[in-house]
Amino acid sequence: MSLTPSSLTFEDARRRVDAYISQFEEGYFPPLLMLARLTEETGEIARVIAHGNGKKPKPGEDPGDLEMELADLLFVMLCLSNERGLSLERGFERMMAKVETRDADRWTRKEAGE
Ligand SMILES: [Mg+2]
Repeated sequence: MSLTPSSLTFEDARRRVDAYISQFEEGYFPPLLMLARLTEETGEIARVIAHGNGKKPKPGEDPGDLEMELADLLFVMLCLSNERGLSLERGFERMMAKVETRDADRWTRKEAGE
């Protein structure tokens, strides 16, 4: 699978999910149902990783697609964020600022040229 450069932004993803969900009368699931979906997708990620690390799939079971499962989780995260009126982009920036400052000296830095 080739990875083509994309200019997709958090805002693009947020709007695309909102446009998709807004087509339907049901709209976004209530927060607790979205939490259940988030947990379900997290379990599916765990299943794919287990299959890649020694757990044999059950007969007839697909070994799974980690990229797709991560994207499923991202979709649910975008739904939850949209429903709550939050911004994953702002959250991401806040989170990165936290790790880049708080954890700046936490890990062993690579030598230059490594
Ligand atoms: Mg899934």
